[in-house]
Amino acid sequence: MAEASLPTAKTEALYQKDGHLYSHTSPISSIQPLSSLPQNAQGLFKPPPEGEPYILTTPSTIFHAQGGGQPSDTGTITSGSSTFNVHQVRKVDPAILHMGTFSGEVRFDGKGEAAEQRIDVSKRSLHSRIHTAGHVIGLAAAALKASGNLDPSVVDGKASHYPGAAFVEFVGLIPADKKAAIQAKADELVAQDLEVKIHFWDEERARRECTGVLESLKMDDDDGVRVVEIGDAGSYPCGGTHVKTTKECGRVVIRNIKRQKGITKVSYEVQDA
Ligand SMILES: [Zn+2]
Repeated sequence: MAEASLPTAKTEALYQKDGHLYSHTSPISSIQPLSSLPQNAQGLFKPPPEGEPYILTTPSTIFHAQGGGQPSDTGTITSGSSTFNVHQVRKVDPAILHMGTFSGEVRFDGKGEAAEQRIDVSKRSLHSRIHTAGHVIGLAAAALKASGNLDPSVVDGKASHYPGAAFVEFVGLIPADKKAAIQAKADELVAQDLEVKIHFWDEERARRECTGVLESLKMDDDDGVRVVEIGDAGSYPCGGTHVKTTKECGRVVIRNIKRQKGITKVSYEVQDA
């Protein structure tokens, strides 16, 4: 049996530059059974119940790798009559690993073969809406702090943007009776239809100008820190995908505000406007 190994070729994350690229052609860099990865890397994946799971890599990808609170994209990578169904995508530096199964018995010949990537657009759009809505809530809280309606020591914490389970956390306490004020401010930011822009800044500028900098500032390539800026309301270091303007979020609905051990968790969802 071959020794466990990880793909070593770097994958360019095209979704970081263009979050609206839904199909893309790229050669195949490697194909290997999931079972041939080292144990710790295998543990990153939940293979589907049917079919033998494989790991496929490409020099560039439009599939968002799970991370930063945003789930993986799903979709297909096809070449000739072969279709690889992408179930889960994880980054294991320097590669982005697509885990999935082949439809039927036909498989790619392997290295160098051109293949077309297609992501599930409705799923990506929902993830981008939920993710951007998380920033809107962060900015709503920041605005309330600026106007003296919220304790200024409250700062952005971690966030999760999974459909049905989305939340943003704040370090510090936000009283439950602030729910209406945060909701009103979020509604206002959505109604303003602010443009969502992506920048690559050096670390110093990111630390100086970002509204929330608790997310680790990872410089994973030469481009610098990826920052999302929302109108002139504020900016965050962020690796996820977003909608183009805040109105595309739809209605951002605050579900619940809970406080525990000094952390406030604001759960929310997006609804069609
Ligand atoms: Zn973001």
